[in-house]
Amino acid sequence: MVVKFYNTLSGEKEVFVPLNDKFVGMYSCGPTVYDFAHIGNFRAYVFADLLRRYLEFRGYRVRQIMNITDLDDKTIRASGEQGVSLREYTDRYIKFFFEDIDLLRIRRADLYPRVTDHIEEMADMVRVLLDKGYAYRKNGSIYFKVEQFRDYGRLARLDLSKIKPGATVEADEYEKEDVRDFALWKEKKEGEPFWVASIGEGRPGWHIECSAISTEYFGPTIDIHTGGVDNIFPHNQNELAQSEAATGQKFVKYWMHCEHLLVNGKKMSKSLGNIIALRDLINKGYRPEALRYLFVSSHYRSKLNFTWESIQHAANTLDRLNKFVERVRDYESNVRKNDEITMLISRTEEKFVDEMDNDLNTPGAFAAIFELVGKVNPALDEGNLSTEDAKMVYELMLRFDDVLGILTPGEREELSREIEALIEERERARKMKNFALADEIRNRLGEMGIILEDTREGVRWRRK
Ligand code: AMP
Ligand code: ZN
Repeated sequence: MVVKFYNTLSGEKEVFVPLNDKFVGMYSCGPTVYDFAHIGNFRAYVFADLLRRYLEFRGYRVRQIMNITDLDDKTIRASGEQGVSLREYTDRYIKFFFEDIDLLRIRRADLYPRVTDHIEEMADMVRVLLDKGYAYRKNGSIYFKVEQFRDYGRLARLDLSKIKPGATVEADEYEKEDVRDFALWKEKKEGEPFWVASIGEGRPGWHIECSAISTEYFGPTIDIHTGGVDNIFPHNQNELAQSEAATGQKFVKYWMHCEHLLVNGKKMSKSLGNIIALRDLINKGYRPEALRYLFVSSHYRSKLNFTWESIQHAANTLDRLNKFVERVRDYESNVRKNDEITMLISRTEEKFVDEMDNDLNTPGAFAAIFELVGKVNPALDEGNLSTEDAKMVYELMLRFDDVLGILTPGEREELSREIEALIEERERARKMKNFALADEIRNRLGEMGIILEDTREGVRWRRK
């Protein structure tokens, strides 16, 4: 059994062999902290988390680093508009980012280096590129000479004949068709933060940050680099060119990119005005795990269209899985061991691993899980499995969840007591005509994913 991953660079699934036996160095392009991250962004981070959890499940030791872009055109503009320092402005969104990744059960990376803490390393790399003839100065800024790098365009599969030699782009974001020399270092500008470095006064461009940060912590070569597909060009392509030009060594062994989260067939993005934040879902009563389930149950290389029906469906399915897990956990019986269940457990585990080994084929892995659920549930109904059988199924589900991170068994009993108490409190408030308090309690329950229904027999609750 071997692990295979699709490598964007080769366009093929390749056997995964890290540089260093069981150690994996993984770099993930992180957030630009100018605003709340939207759930499209989180698809990319959940994907990186799933990848890392699976590698750990397979016995690898993973070191993951994710940069935080706290310096670019957008963060500078937004902090200027609000009249606060760049640091103060970005601190706020970094805090929100960490709150959200914790809610989504994304395991923390080993380090989250901030761009503004690594300006010197970036300037040093630009100096090397200047010295080696891969960069040139123009109007006070420094640009990478695309023409000079023989392999430019391979990762992004670009048509190199479109390159206009010597044309320069300075903006951090530019149109896909623009294949031109890009800014490594931008000249100091009135009203913008700048740093004094050996190469001059100014600030680094966007792409150099990931090259410099990953080289600082991993050396010239890393095993895996992750991002969303929109990172491939220009960002990752430029990272690759800069790094390999500077170090003379291969930059990344496996480039892995996840497809976009869409809304009505269009990429979820701030500029299209179709974004949804994690807190929007939570305010509607969905658990973060429902979103995580939606993400991990579809393949990371397929586009995923977000709809309210799909998140509702995810929430329902997850409820069923949680109920199943509680059932096998709490089941007791004095019947003898059922050998079919033992066989089913090992078959399910094998299938899960086979599917995940195959470029993280989570839809296949979930098919195996649902087959297990479909066979064990009737056995539980009929009581023809032993306590030990049920316990083994329970432990298997928890092992899978170490990779998937979606289950929340155990809180149900306590939760229902808490919910009942809140409902009673609300009833009392209503009787006393304290409608403000009653509404507040209803909202609190809403946040917990509970909908109240007034029936003739009194108030009932159900999960969203
Ligand atoms: P940004 O903060 O814009 O640099 O984006 C952070 C990460 O989110 C990058 O890895 C992007 O590729 C990824 N990303 C942005 N929009 C989406 C989307 N709609 N679906 C999936 N990933 C996305
Ligand atoms: Zn990056």
